[in-house]
Amino acid sequence: MIVRLHAANPGPFTGAGNWTYFLPGENPVLIDAGVGEAAHLDAVAQSRSDGPTHVIVTHAHSDHIAGAGAIAARWPATRFSKYLWPDRDARHGVSWSALNDGAIVAAGDSKLEVIHTPGHSPDHIALWDGETRTLFSGDLVTAATTVVIPATSGGSLTAYLESLRRVLTLAPAKLLPAHGPEIDDPIPLLQRYIQHRHEREVQVRSALDDGLQTIDAIVERIYTGLAPALLPMARESVLAHLLKLQDEGLAEGAGDRWRPL
Ligand SMILES: [Zn+2]
Repeated sequence: MIVRLHAANPGPFTGAGNWTYFLPGENPVLIDAGVGEAAHLDAVAQSRSDGPTHVIVTHAHSDHIAGAGAIAARWPATRFSKYLWPDRDARHGVSWSALNDGAIVAAGDSKLEVIHTPGHSPDHIALWDGETRTLFSGDLVTAATTVVIPATSGGSLTAYLESLRRVLTLAPAKLLPAHGPEIDDPIPLLQRYIQHRHEREVQVRSALDDGLQTIDAIVERIYTGLAPALLPMARESVLAHLLKLQDEGLAEGAGDRWRPL
């Protein structure tokens, strides 16, 4: 059984807010900690008054991890696990056990396999239920929008594309993301994400070939009519593409000056 629990944290960076997933049963596991909103904790308690015995966090972005302290305060016996990102993990006042790629964890009445899916963040994991072909997919993809690759804070487009391709090879039947609705037809969505990044890359390369040298100039050309509030994300995305091209020997950056190779 999977109980979808809202973290009650709508906002400019989380949209309608985060979904967390509670698997009651023999090994009660909560996937993602939310941010400690009382409504979220109460919803967990309604599913099981003793709370989860184990909280697994998909990655250390605050909308997924910041509730760890509040969960520990309410249910002190809870264990916390994630793929470690020590600098970030240390901010939340609980101790973390390491979950590495391929680890098998008991969750609810079944087992989940840890799939390390870096790119959106270095520590991002998804959790795979091979029996039902369901993937708890964190911030890997969302049904409605694209996912930010924060290149200045641990994001990597090269790693992200590898993660998308790896998840495609699992042939999942369903994704349960941390934002937006369940994804019942994930293969075309994953393919669209890869295609979208490829199209962006073509645009970035052609901007470089046309002599545009700065991230701002490239953003201005590619993201026409973008709301000013979204500019920082567009800059992160262009930088992520430039760094990928640099990894591949196709571009070179010095300071904020970029050129094609
Ligand atoms: Zn995130």
